Amino acid sequence: MPPASMQGQTTKAHRACARPIRCQASLPHTCAIRGATRSNWSMADSAPDHGPAEIEGLRTQVAACTACADLPLGPRPIVQIGAGARILIAGQAPGRRTHLAGRPFDDASGARLRQWLGLDEATFRDPTKVAILPMGFCYPGTGRSGDLPPRPECASRWRQRALDLLANVQLTVVIGRHAQAWHLPDTAGLALSEAMRDWWVRWLETVLLPHPSPRNTGWLRRNGWFETELLPTVKSRIEAVLGDSTL
Ligand code: SF4
Repeated sequence: MPPASMQGQTTKAHRACARPIRCQASLPHTCAIRGATRSNWSMADSAPDHGPAEIEGLRTQVAACTACADLPLGPRPIVQIGAGARILIAGQAPGRRTHLAGRPFDDASGARLRQWLGLDEATFRDPTKVAILPMGFCYPGTGRSGDLPPRPECASRWRQRALDLLANVQLTVVIGRHAQAWHLPDTAGLALSEAMRDWWVRWLETVLLPHPSPRNTGWLRRNGWFETELLPTVKSRIEAVLGDSTL
């Protein structure tokens, strides 16, 4: 159900999919979501079980990718993907520090994200539980106002192939405007705050979060509902998804 503070509101996101608001309040929203989430499948009827060999095959191909020859620090694809993963984190692109460390979210943003999701480091880094697929797999470089956008080559080459192997994802965590545009195309024209205000429309299968970068601390202060209302719901869902084999 939508939180009390949201009831009765109709926004552009609702109108974009032309579904009655009451209907969306109780059903998973599927009209304009791209990704791997299958929140209404049980494990028994789920999906083709893509085994470790297929996933390892893709990981090997990704690791050898040199499609973007002009990356400032060279290609170093950083993804986390494993058979059986139930949480998908769809982020932006590795930063410089993550590139050097060679593993995703190895920075202050990662620490804040783990706290938001209620995940300890070991669970967060377990590819059989959590898949991490940024929009661009390699560090794209830095411009005058921060890191450059994810390289577009990556999504067209790899993204759908990787998502197709993630047959058991129950919750997709979409982070930042580039992942928002790809996974939630009906919200692409909306500011993050406006798109997020309707989080319950996509619940239980997808949730949109701001980037956990320390640069977004001001946004967090201005949107207190995010920590008091949304994050507890997200944490409960993740706990249930990772803890209950029947989900
Ligand atoms: S950003 Fe993506 S497409 Fe470009 S080299 Fe890295 S893995 Fe390949």
